[in-house]
Amino acid sequence: MNHPSSFPRKRESSFFFSLRGLERKLDSRFRGNDGVRLFLAIAFLLLLPSPALADALIDNANGYTLDEDGDLVRFTGILFDPDTGRITRLLDRNDDPPDDLDFRHDARGATVIPGLIDAHGHVMGLGQAALTLDLSDTDSLAEAQARLAQYAAENPSPRWIVGRGWNHERWGLGRFPTAADLDSIVADRPVWLERVDGHAGVANSLAMREAGVTAATQAPSGGRIERTGREPSGLFVDAAQALIANAIPSLQPLTLEEAFAETQQILLSHGITAVADMGTSESDWQVIRRAGDADRLNIRVISYANSLETLLAVAGTGPTPWLYNGRLRMVGIKIYADGALGSRGASLAAPYADAPDQRGLPLIDDVGLRNLLSRAALDRFQPAIHAIGDAANAQALGAIEELAARYDDDRRWRIEHAQVVAPADLPRFGRNGIIASMQPVHQTSDRLMAEARLGPDRLLGAYAWNSMLRNGGRLAFGSDFPVESPNPFAGLAAAISRQDAAGQPPGGWQPHERVTMSEAFAGFTTGAAYAGFAEQNIGRLAVGLYADFVIIDRDIFDNATPEAVRATRAVETWVGGRRSWVRGAENAPDPNAPIGPRIVPETTGPDDEEVTGR
Ligand SMILES: [Zn+2]
Repeated sequence: MNHPSSFPRKRESSFFFSLRGLERKLDSRFRGNDGVRLFLAIAFLLLLPSPALADALIDNANGYTLDEDGDLVRFTGILFDPDTGRITRLLDRNDDPPDDLDFRHDARGATVIPGLIDAHGHVMGLGQAALTLDLSDTDSLAEAQARLAQYAAENPSPRWIVGRGWNHERWGLGRFPTAADLDSIVADRPVWLERVDGHAGVANSLAMREAGVTAATQAPSGGRIERTGREPSGLFVDAAQALIANAIPSLQPLTLEEAFAETQQILLSHGITAVADMGTSESDWQVIRRAGDADRLNIRVISYANSLETLLAVAGTGPTPWLYNGRLRMVGIKIYADGALGSRGASLAAPYADAPDQRGLPLIDDVGLRNLLSRAALDRFQPAIHAIGDAANAQALGAIEELAARYDDDRRWRIEHAQVVAPADLPRFGRNGIIASMQPVHQTSDRLMAEARLGPDRLLGAYAWNSMLRNGGRLAFGSDFPVESPNPFAGLAAAISRQDAAGQPPGGWQPHERVTMSEAFAGFTTGAAYAGFAEQNIGRLAVGLYADFVIIDRDIFDNATPEAVRATRAVETWVGGRRSWVRGAENAPDPNAPIGPRIVPETTGPDDEEVTGR
């Protein structure tokens, strides 16, 4: 543990420095007029914000954090600077807390852990999903149809009905849904419903008509239009989804702001204090900036642009600085190498076991991928490549290996999902310092589907977290919300058990790929922070890092079962020393207003610089 005395008390010295400076200035202007000097000095001092003289303390905690070496360490108190939101000291049982405190918060023996970090989510998608028709818990087509009818009746004003979350595998439908399935419920308004993985969508007939899709329409490359005879069936896969999605009127700024506020509340309620946003659009960036400007940015967002155009427009010549006290930064770009397994868009080296004429949809060719990667790497942008199938992973690895030879400094190449990897390719992650950004809950959701799509022989390198670690790879864990719930405790439980919420399958699926609780926890904290170049700010509780922490309702490290870990609930979520969410206070008058003392200064901190012109 660090010695508090080695941490400089910057505020005090800068306070005295400004006094001396003031004296010098007054000296030169009012030489010889002591009365005026004194008067001005007092008047000036009264205008200064009163300097904070002491730290804030979270006391009486059953605290756990990982240290720099990845070992679990205990603490009982967190002392932090309320001005910067950074930790000045961690206390353990034998330490006496200082007497002069700005405030003290008694954790009453509750377990306190670092704020959890989701290494792969879709920030605006989560809030929008919360505001649109949610079909994610429907168990049959009939149930989804009933939900659609109800939503249409309850929401008469939006002309388009947009929903998401269906899963025909879960419905046991044996086929994809079609326009006819929707027309029988809603025919007078366009309807567009995205599949749970976002890699397919179903439109009703009116939506196709308004989008100008006919029997003559060809699928764009990287996409597929399902047909009944010659006619489009209503189902659009991967890039073909844009044929319909582009016809949907875009959301108004107010709706976008509501969606982002919703996202923040949902994440904080799960104990998540930071997220890597995988595919930030220019409009998303502006929504988050507006929240930051209005001091309503309560989570930290590590942003990956959705396109080269966005990256260049927002960040320009290199990653942006950290903005708003370490709450926002665009660091890189999201790149798609393929689609998803569920919709058979994942690019496989051999045909799908359950569709022998299909091998998936590569979304970019080798030359295109290399060009995009080089363009990003040239300006030190961090690429995050979505690769699900074994062919897509091999393609991404090959491209990265070439670049890694040219840029051998600290680049932290990321592969998102890394879901199906040929076992022989696993060591290639470790060799090149590639981060495998994986989502434990995908494994439990996909298990039966993955067995069907891949057959028994290709499961060895599938969702292979433990093998990834043993081969020297670095793990970052996330949820891919809103594809899955952002609840990180469900992710931790899946990571240590390879079992779903119902405890299936007994003993765990491919149980040798389980990881330990510390390894799983690292995936959602230090690993996720490292993956976003943010380990100097977040991921651990230590001197100099932000006081981002969660008070939870049980001890997840004291021999907790996977069921207990899964049932864990956040009680309070603190970001930068500010209590940003409290369980039970969800219905407070303004759910976006920070709860508790407002202790983050309005002005940006010393580590902040504004991006000119944005
Ligand atoms: Zn995603």
